[in-house]
Amino acid sequence: MAIDFGKRMGLGGLRLPVLDPHNPMSIDMETLKKIVDVYMANGFKYFDTAYIYHGELSEGAIGEAVVDRYPRDSFFLSTKMPIKQMRSGDEMESIFAEQLKKCHVDHFDFYLIHCVSKDTYARCEEWGTFEFLKQKRAAGKFREFGVSFHDSPEFLDKVLTEHPEIDFVMLQINYIDWVNPAIRAKESYEVAMKHGKPVVVMEACKGGTLAEIPEEAKKIMREFNPEASIASWAYRFVGSLPGVRVVLSGMPKMEFLEDNISVFEDFKPLSQEEYKVIDQVVEIINANTPIPCTVCRYCETACPKKIAIPDYFALYNDMKRLEKSSTPNDVLTQAMFYGALIEQGHGPASACVGCKKCEKVCPQSLPITDYLRDMVVEEIEKYDPMAKIEAMKHAGS
Ligand code: SF4
Ligand code: SF4
Repeated sequence: MAIDFGKRMGLGGLRLPVLDPHNPMSIDMETLKKIVDVYMANGFKYFDTAYIYHGELSEGAIGEAVVDRYPRDSFFLSTKMPIKQMRSGDEMESIFAEQLKKCHVDHFDFYLIHCVSKDTYARCEEWGTFEFLKQKRAAGKFREFGVSFHDSPEFLDKVLTEHPEIDFVMLQINYIDWVNPAIRAKESYEVAMKHGKPVVVMEACKGGTLAEIPEEAKKIMREFNPEASIASWAYRFVGSLPGVRVVLSGMPKMEFLEDNISVFEDFKPLSQEEYKVIDQVVEIINANTPIPCTVCRYCETACPKKIAIPDYFALYNDMKRLEKSSTPNDVLTQAMFYGALIEQGHGPASACVGCKKCEKVCPQSLPITDYLRDMVVEEIEKYDPMAKIEAMKHAGS
């Protein structure tokens, strides 16, 4: 029987509300429950989480905020197997059981292999992960299984050809990555369509960065439609694609949810004129965003030196934007924010020891260590006299 997804916005468990923005484990359960209540009351029902989100606490939070408070048949629950973080295939059974327990369910609705790339795919083949999941699906432990995918369109084609039993794919699609040569979202989407696989979209707003675009770009959007939020353009772009089953959105604040409800309540695909507006905006953003980080924070959790990588990258991107349109003082303000992060206990960029643990987990395959060295140390840290002292302390820690 075909699954009725209803309104096509899913609540993403990667960006739940937190009490401390630098501690992903400080989930604000009270706010999360309020957000879940408004989300459900408006007829939405898709919750996506994963073993590793929020320092492995996201699944439990969804269990408490959703599963414990709503009838099991009133929502869909989706989670993912952390192949990248596992040491052997023997862990598949125990992790799957742990996930059911954390989520307070006896079955999921959708289950994915997390972060499929060449490296994780090789592990899946060696460990028999696809066979394991086929058996779980046959045993009624979930209805469909998918892959959340982070590699080239050619590799997606190979995976879907070799494993036609995959029911759906989760892809990073947004208007800035659509033809971005590093992500190639359009081509991956076309591969999924060629194989007849429905798509769940992640990073539609690119970690919120498509809500915070350069003023010049915002002006173009506002002139075209003063009522529409900047983020709504990003969600309408992916929602307009045929074959998109659900668009995920991290909604750590009620205002994000309310804005998304207004987009998906009575969804209107983009018009040809609106696509032209987006084309102009893409040009402006590309000219202003040197580091395409989506602020997923996987790297931050992996870093032994507690380097606030995504925050430093955001400061750098802002600094470059300000350099074009503002005064030297505004640029120095970025260095002050940098110093404040270090005072809060984060390692400065120069404390990096080059272990590359961050790069191994970055879904965007960013050369993080190069960026830290050439951009953050060279262009921000030089303004912060305390950073060198802190770097020496971190070197000894
Ligand atoms: S390479 Fe540097 S930034 Fe990356 S995890 Fe290691 S110490 Fe942290
Ligand atoms: S650098 Fe990569 S892993 Fe780190 S927050 Fe940005 S996109 Fe995520």
